[in-house]
Amino acid sequence: MHRILIAGFQHETNTFGATKAKFKDFQEADGWPGLLQGDNVISGTAGINLPLAGFVEAAQQAANIELLPAVWASAEPSSYVTDDAFEQISQMILDGVASAGQLDGIYLDLHGAMVTESHEDGEGELLSRIRAIVGNQLPIAVSLDLHANLTSRMVQFASSLSIFRTYPHIDMADTGIRAYAMLRRHLSGENLYSAIRQAPFLVPLSAQYTGATPCQELYSLLSVENGANTVVSDIAMGFPPADIFDAGPAVVAYGPTQADADHEADRLIEAIKASEDLFDSALLSPTAAVSKAMAANGARPVVIADVQDNPGAGATSDTTGLLKTLVDCKAQKAVLGLLNDPETAAKAHALGVGGIFSVELGGKSGLPGLDPYHATFKVLALSDGRFSFSGAMYAGARAKIGPTALLKIVDDTADVCVVVGSKRCQCLDRAIFTHIGIELEKLKIIALKSTVHFRDDFEPIAECILHAEAPGANYCRLDDVPYQRLRPNVRRGPRGNLN
Ligand SMILES: [Zn+2]
Repeated sequence: MHRILIAGFQHETNTFGATKAKFKDFQEADGWPGLLQGDNVISGTAGINLPLAGFVEAAQQAANIELLPAVWASAEPSSYVTDDAFEQISQMILDGVASAGQLDGIYLDLHGAMVTESHEDGEGELLSRIRAIVGNQLPIAVSLDLHANLTSRMVQFASSLSIFRTYPHIDMADTGIRAYAMLRRHLSGENLYSAIRQAPFLVPLSAQYTGATPCQELYSLLSVENGANTVVSDIAMGFPPADIFDAGPAVVAYGPTQADADHEADRLIEAIKASEDLFDSALLSPTAAVSKAMAANGARPVVIADVQDNPGAGATSDTTGLLKTLVDCKAQKAVLGLLNDPETAAKAHALGVGGIFSVELGGKSGLPGLDPYHATFKVLALSDGRFSFSGAMYAGARAKIGPTALLKIVDDTADVCVVVGSKRCQCLDRAIFTHIGIELEKLKIIALKSTVHFRDDFEPIAECILHAEAPGANYCRLDDVPYQRLRPNVRRGPRGNLN
C-alpha cells in the first residue's frame, strides 16, 4: 500500500490588484468551494473540474493507494496573499505532512503564480518547507495552472510539475490525472531528470488563447505519452500582471537522462521564441469595439470582452469604462456582466423588482482612474447568487456570488442592462446571465469581464468576439505597466520593450 498525502493551495496573484488575499478569502466559497480539511477535501471537490478531483479519481481506481487528505484552499485572484494567510494554510499542509506517519508520496494541487507579502515564489517557498520535513527523496507530484510563473525552485523541490494545456482551462481535472501518472512513475523508482527554460518576453493573457495561433501549435508539440522512460514536458504561458523576477512563459521537461530533459526543454523554448511575431496582442478602444458590435448584422450577439477588468486575473471587476461607452454609443439590446458592487446589489434588493434609483455604480476600488458611473437604474430581476454553472470549465461547481441584481440603465436612447453581483467572479459561464432570466440569444451585445475563459461557453452563441481595452488591473498592454522586478533581459510582451 502506498500512503499519499494530498493537499491544494491555489492563488493567482496580480501584484497590481486592489486588495490582498486574506485567510478569510480562502475560507469562503466563491465559484469553487471554501477551505476544506480532512476527508472534506475529497468529498468537497468530487465531480468538479479541479486538478485534485482528477487526481483523486485516478488514485481511487488503484487498489494499492491510500489517500491522506490534508487541506484544499483557493481564493479569487487578487493582489498579494497576506503573510498570515500563507503561514496558516502552509502550516496546515506541513502539520499534515508531519503527522501523517510513514509517507510514500505527496500530491499538491498548486497554481504557480502565488506571490505573498514576503515571498515572490509562494509555491517554491511551500515546497522548500515540505522538503525540510520529508527530505529530498520522497516523491512530490505537483499540478500547476497554465498561468504559472515557473521558477527553478519549484522544479528543484517538486519531483514533477504537470501543467494545464488549455486556456480556457477545460483540462484541470485531466491535469490532476497526469500528475497521478507522474507520481506512479516516481513510486516505481524511476529516476527522472528535469530542465527548465524561461522565455525572453512576456505574453499578455489576451494573446494566450490555446484555440488560436500560436498557442494552438505550441501546445500540439507536447507529447501525450507518459509511460516508463518517456520524456514528458509542459509549457506555462505565465501570468504577466505579476511584478516578480520569474514572470513570463517557461517550459519544464523530464526525461530518463539530463540530456533528454535538456533537449526537450530547448526544443520547446525555441518554438516559443520562433512564435514571437504570431502572438496577437491587439485590443480595440471601447468606442471602436462598441461601434463595431452595433454595426454587426448577424443573427447572433457580438461578445465584447472587457479583458483588463477580469477578476479571474486579479482585477477589481467593478470598472465602468465599457458600460459607460455602451450607453454613450446608444447601444441596443446590450448587457454587461458581472460587475461587482455589493452596495448597489443590496440597494436593488431593498427596493425590489420595479424599483428605480440613482447610484454611483462600481469604481469603488480606489485604484487611480477607475471611477464610478453615476446613473439611474431600474431593477428588472433579483437573485440570491446561488446557481449551478452550466459550462465545461466550472463543471460541477456551484456559484455563491451573493445578492445579485439585473439593472437597466434608465435612458431614452440606449437599451443597456448590467448584472451586478456581490462577489468577484469571472464572467466565464452563461449561467451568470441566464440564472437571472436573461435570454442571451435575443441580445445584440454581450459585454463580459473575462479575458479568454469565457470563450468555451460563449463562442458557440457568439457572432464574433472583440477585445476592448477599457481600464482595469489585468494589464494587457504590457509596455505601459510599471514593472520594477522583472529579469533584466525580459521584454514586456512579444516584440515589447526591455525594462
Ligand atoms: Zn489560469
